[in-house]
Amino acid sequence: MSDDDVTTARRLADRLARLVRVPTVTPADDGPLGPEDARVFGELRELLGELYPRVCAAAEVDVVGRAGLLLRVPGRGGDGGGATALGPVVLMAHQDVVPAPRGNAGEDWAGEGWSHEPFAGVVAPDGAGELTVHGRGTLDDKGALLVTLEAVEDLLGEGWRPHADLWLLLGADEEREGPSAVAAVALLAARGVEPALVVDEGGAVVTGAFPGLRRPMAAVGIAEKGVVTLEIVVEGDPRHAGHASTPPRRGVVPALGRALDALERTPHPAVVDDVTVAMFAAVAPHVPPPLRWLLARADRLRAPLARLLPLLGGEIAAMVRTTTTATVLRGSSAANVIAARASAVVNMRVATSSTAADATAHVERVVARAVGRRGPSVSVRVLDASEPTPASPLDDERWALVSGAVTHAYPDAVVAPYTMLAASDARHVARIAPAVYRFSPLRMTAAQRSSIHGVDENVAASSLVAGVRFYRHLLAG
Ligand SMILES: [Zn+2]
Repeated sequence: MSDDDVTTARRLADRLARLVRVPTVTPADDGPLGPEDARVFGELRELLGELYPRVCAAAEVDVVGRAGLLLRVPGRGGDGGGATALGPVVLMAHQDVVPAPRGNAGEDWAGEGWSHEPFAGVVAPDGAGELTVHGRGTLDDKGALLVTLEAVEDLLGEGWRPHADLWLLLGADEEREGPSAVAAVALLAARGVEPALVVDEGGAVVTGAFPGLRRPMAAVGIAEKGVVTLEIVVEGDPRHAGHASTPPRRGVVPALGRALDALERTPHPAVVDDVTVAMFAAVAPHVPPPLRWLLARADRLRAPLARLLPLLGGEIAAMVRTTTTATVLRGSSAANVIAARASAVVNMRVATSSTAADATAHVERVVARAVGRRGPSVSVRVLDASEPTPASPLDDERWALVSGAVTHAYPDAVVAPYTMLAASDARHVARIAPAVYRFSPLRMTAAQRSSIHGVDENVAASSLVAGVRFYRHLLAG
């Protein structure tokens, strides 16, 4: 890094640390914010006003949902190039974070494995001497929020103005799949806004994520899997419930166990879709043979790859199929009482090659066969379903702009599209925008990726500098 970059890195690290110190933990439910949550989100909003005076002066601000912020920096037909020349642009990052132990509440953060207090916003070198910001939200998603606002603040200070409107959507309950992004999208739709380009969290510049790839991979999510939550309910003859001393021959709990076991042994079919083929094509030139040859021919080898890839580990398996996992189990509430009814909540992530209805039908078939017709009855109820999103374009100016900005900020990274496995606020925006790219322009090692929603979340200060560069390039060319 140049001396200038070192100074900038230090400054950005200190500013991110200030954002981390405001504990904007996602509100526990979808109701109105309690006084303490309202105060904390108000504090973050005030801090953003202090750190980004030009953005706040230039933008019209709407509060969306409970504490989400939707800022519109009006287009002025500026000819600075960049993404807004294509039409309105929406940049998204969420203010809220998942919980972590609070030192000032007497919670044992060290005992839970944190090296620094999660909300203290510590800036210190890591083991390799790299200046690092430690704390909850540094990667998810305050780091991205910071670099977005820094870039716009800098550009406005240099006299840059967007061509079409630039929207900044700062959600406040992403981690609960809460209503603020939904409200923002409704507002955009009501105003007739058709975003030409949307960027939200998702992929990142990752190392060690792809076998054989030595260079970092900038994984840009161009689609998102769907989410289906089902409840499997097994009900028996109520006369057979009761005292555990006289169990029936066919109990509801063993039947539910058979159903869950069958689901694990009968996964959804694997399909190598177009996004995966495009990802392999992007990576192929940068991995050694024979993997290079295999990946370069992925389009013609879809069927054998669909059989092979699920064997390579959970993350790769999740890329090529709908996943199913049981989460909440319910049965009897007492040690000596036999349940008349047992249930399991099943969480599915629906592959882009499938649909929510397909995924549900698969579970119904497998479960009915496992429980059989004699004995307890089984039913499957859909609690919640959202379809996978369509894939954003890879063959036009919008992808070229995003991948060009990545290469500008991270010259050594291989840019590759992928399907995002988790759900994000971006899926709501995908309803009104055909080009949504899910990418946080931050470097993440394997350890850093697992610190998201885990312990010791941290980001390198140098990566914040590169992140600002990404957004500047995207907006101003
Ligand atoms: Zn997030």
